[in-house]
Amino acid sequence: MAEEAGFCFGVRRAVEAIEGVLSEGGTLWSIGMPIHNPQEVARLRARGLNVTKSANEIPEGARVLIRAHGESKAVTEDLDARKMRLTDATCPFVRRAQERAEELSSQGYAVVLLGDARHPEIRAVMGYARGPVDVVASAQDTERLPKRPRVALISQTTQREDLLAAVAAALVPRAGELHVCNTVCRATLNRQDAVRRLAGKVDGLVLIGGRNSANTAKLRDIAEAGGMDVLWIETSEELTREWFGEKDQIGVAAGASTPQWLITEICSKIARM
Ligand code: SF4
Repeated sequence: MAEEAGFCFGVRRAVEAIEGVLSEGGTLWSIGMPIHNPQEVARLRARGLNVTKSANEIPEGARVLIRAHGESKAVTEDLDARKMRLTDATCPFVRRAQERAEELSSQGYAVVLLGDARHPEIRAVMGYARGPVDVVASAQDTERLPKRPRVALISQTTQREDLLAAVAAALVPRAGELHVCNTVCRATLNRQDAVRRLAGKVDGLVLIGGRNSANTAKLRDIAEAGGMDVLWIETSEELTREWFGEKDQIGVAAGASTPQWLITEICSKIARM
């Protein structure tokens, strides 16, 4: 078993918040998938969670979840205006990035976000900045940015610290004053390091996680780069005897959105096989 696998702190906290509302017999709405694991979402839906693509479909006054990767201020204010009751499960690490964007942009800093512009976390953080915001994914991306007197660099929580340092270095010539916020969360990086440590010790890796989970895809890439034969599955039904073949030592890893009950179920089946 990888030393760190499955739910990170923020996802566990969000699932507990959802279960808290549902256990009181309430109905809870989520705008988009609350976590990137279809089996866990199905379990929560069976208990009364409603998942919708658009906030417009939610009836006025309903209880609405703010997911672990947060929502923009505009969306939250719109929900407030429609008298929604909010269950805010924004991860504290994401909240910190939002707060830094709001504070520093209010002080006149142009905000540069390191991350994936399409990711909900980055869109939410963007929504807290007052003034110019640019999203970059690499040091090269900074070349298109103008020179500004004050620049604040803030990272998406799942980025690598070495990349943050490289982007900060690239911004130095473009900023009279540069403020770097290390808002990287170690949870996903720790899961990646745990997979790296399995390299050379196992003949194959069973990787458990949603197909829509970007952090699980990253674990697959790391395992394959380390020479492991990877079987990426969502459920125990996908385990095949053919894959195990003559393998002796099997490693198991899981993404940050994979619940423990699913890991336990799959490990039991592997042991039986
Ligand atoms: S990966 Fe880190 S920032 Fe994201 S939800 Fe998990 S604990 Fe929070």
